[in-house]
Amino acid sequence: MNITDFLKKWWKIKSSTKNIKVEDLFATSNSNSSNNKWHIDSDLNIISYWDKKEDSQIIAIVNDIFLHSFKLKASDIHIEPREKSLNIRFRVDWNFINYRNIEFFFKDSIIARIKIMSYLRIDEHRLPQDWKIAYKLFWWKSIDMRVSIIPTIYWEKCVIRLLKKDDKPPELKSLGIMPYNMVKIKKHLKDNFWMILAVWPTGSWKSTTLFSLLSQFDPKEKNISTLEDPVEYRILWVNHTQINPSIKFTFAKWLRSLLRQDPDIIMVWEIRDDETAKLAVEASITWHIVFSTIHTNSATHTIQRLVNLGVDPLLISSSLRMIISQRLARKLCIHCKIDYQPNDKIKEYIVWKVWKYIKEKNNIIIYKAKEDWCDKCNNTWYSWRIWLYEVLEMTDKLENLMIANASRLQLEIQAIWDWMIPIKDDWLLKVILWETSLEEVLSVLWT
Ligand SMILES: [Zn+2]
Repeated sequence: MNITDFLKKWWKIKSSTKNIKVEDLFATSNSNSSNNKWHIDSDLNIISYWDKKEDSQIIAIVNDIFLHSFKLKASDIHIEPREKSLNIRFRVDWNFINYRNIEFFFKDSIIARIKIMSYLRIDEHRLPQDWKIAYKLFWWKSIDMRVSIIPTIYWEKCVIRLLKKDDKPPELKSLGIMPYNMVKIKKHLKDNFWMILAVWPTGSWKSTTLFSLLSQFDPKEKNISTLEDPVEYRILWVNHTQINPSIKFTFAKWLRSLLRQDPDIIMVWEIRDDETAKLAVEASITWHIVFSTIHTNSATHTIQRLVNLGVDPLLISSSLRMIISQRLARKLCIHCKIDYQPNDKIKEYIVWKVWKYIKEKNNIIIYKAKEDWCDKCNNTWYSWRIWLYEVLEMTDKLENLMIANASRLQLEIQAIWDWMIPIKDDWLLKVILWETSLEEVLSVLWT
């Protein structure tokens, strides 16, 4: 089979289908774009490579992979060499969707094409390589990609993380923050100096919440500076700094330099070490507003983590105002979800947990995935995500407990006593609001 026949078979392009319509690809991903006429004017015009020389067809294969990953809103592209083929799959909402198998014959050219795009060495096959690039998908859209290549026993495996670099952060009100949490958040955004921490386990899209909070301030009125790795969102008038780990200049050193830049609001990507933790706390006490993230499992756990990093509890109590813990769950696909009445035990549990919002157990109807054929969500039964939140406000009693070196359980009980809604109750309410299923949130919170 020559390459042209292979490609024709691979794309199943019929004589009537002369062009791939990009507007079709965006019909679901960008509802505002339906009235606009898009033009394809970049590398991704697959058809322009049609029936040209072999190199161009390899470019077309790679572009086709990008187009489809974008259409499916994938977060990662995996190009994996198997024994006799190159397997392409996408990670969409944490699940893998198998896209294509390509004949093993093309493995060298495809990986080489990606290496060329990413400015990696094409003659290096023994060592891992990685690099970040901004790739122009269309004339109006570019995307940041983190390309990582690692040799395996069959050939090199390539993983590409797709970061939408020019996207604005979502509005705070669009994150699904329930009113009881929103009131607390808005109250503390009005303070003049403090530290707010967003905490999360891996893969909870912490930056989304953090940047939504940051965009509540007017960057023309304040000097807002960030230290990030990687830079995911770009806000006009905000000074984004990309941390480069390879030059061995740590977060703490960057932060020290940034503090000499007369900032009002600082966003530190992540507190990983004691030096950054101490500096961030000190910065907030000296009339700065500090946003940061820390890798823990819950809001109360964060207090202990800061103490364990060697920060004086007295300093924490004077700087820390709020901890926002977040998790992500998948949102049920609206095209294939079905309603049902849960059994009495579940109903009783729901009423017991969220008695403030639901009093009558007989009226409880929730949704689940129908688990039937559905083109809209590629039979994954979920589409897009929702956030689950737990917002801890520092109170006098919590501060006293922290200074007295109380256990995590004591802190948790006091926080709930001080009106913190635990993340498990937040999800129950989102199940009752028909956004996700019991099964999904159970799998998120008990793993
Ligand atoms: Zn569906």
